[in-house]
Amino acid sequence: MTAAMINRELNFFGNSPLLYLIATPIGNLGEMTPRALEVLKEIDYVACEDTRNSGSLLKKFGLDKQFISCHEHNEEEASQKIISLLKEGKKIAYMSDAGYPTVSDPGERLTKRCIEAGIKVSVVNGPSAAICGLVGSGLEADHFYFYGFLPSKPSARKKELESLKAREDTIVFYEAPHRIGATLKDMSSILGGDRKAVIARELTKQHEEYIRGTLGEMAELDESTLIGEMVIIVEKQKSTAKTISNDEIVEILKEKLENLSSKEAIKETAKENDIPKNVVYDIYLKNFKD
Ligand code: SAM
Repeated sequence: MTAAMINRELNFFGNSPLLYLIATPIGNLGEMTPRALEVLKEIDYVACEDTRNSGSLLKKFGLDKQFISCHEHNEEEASQKIISLLKEGKKIAYMSDAGYPTVSDPGERLTKRCIEAGIKVSVVNGPSAAICGLVGSGLEADHFYFYGFLPSKPSARKKELESLKAREDTIVFYEAPHRIGATLKDMSSILGGDRKAVIARELTKQHEEYIRGTLGEMAELDESTLIGEMVIIVEKQKSTAKTISNDEIVEILKEKLENLSSKEAIKETAKENDIPKNVVYDIYLKNFKD
């Protein structure tokens, strides 16, 4: 696509319709942002995952709006209805039950369909269970991989964990309380019992708790104490790059020197083993030069 074919319009200028995607509290009501309330006051319809949940949330802030139900099972049809209303000039915001819509929640198809229909999208920022848990975990947060929910079937869950085993970044999972015990046991046996992990439970609520330990220790926890909503954060796999001893470098050099010049042997040894050339050169000087 050439730059000339790209249609551009700033989100808050021009007349094209725009869908708001609003993040809502994951626990504490104080997480509802002033901007979210400002947008909600302005709009004509609240499209949402569950009209009862969003209705009672809005009621707490003295707001009474018309709702459009848009959940996992009707998202395609509901999206068409929402797009028609937006094109008629109605103002609409979408919210899921908690946190960001689309993140392990409905809203992704609606967002895609809106974008395909030339409708702009603006996200009203707010809480995310994944980011909240990751930040409080104290595990490396510069690079992390958000996985979300593992499959509920044990065989599929184990297969997914196998595929995640070698990731060299922190992994963030969501899990339901009725599966937490089985999931922790699978994590311990597949990802490794000595890997550090944190269970971030009931975030921003009265019984907020961070449980820190190894996956092996987590797998032994009394399941009846793991109630409420939980994020599991798993330490990254340590780098698998192998370390090489000086004696091993001497052996490699010795072999290469049978067929190569000293310069080539040093260069190849350094490159193949990912070691700085000057290190190999020093070893060469000490062991092969008299
Ligand atoms: N869309 C949400 C978000 O942006 O965080 C996530 C929704 S997902 C259906 C629900 C899962 O998020 C829960 O099973 C749990 O793993 C996690 N979660 C939601 N609220 C939480 C909380 N207060 N404390 C810990 N985990 C939470």
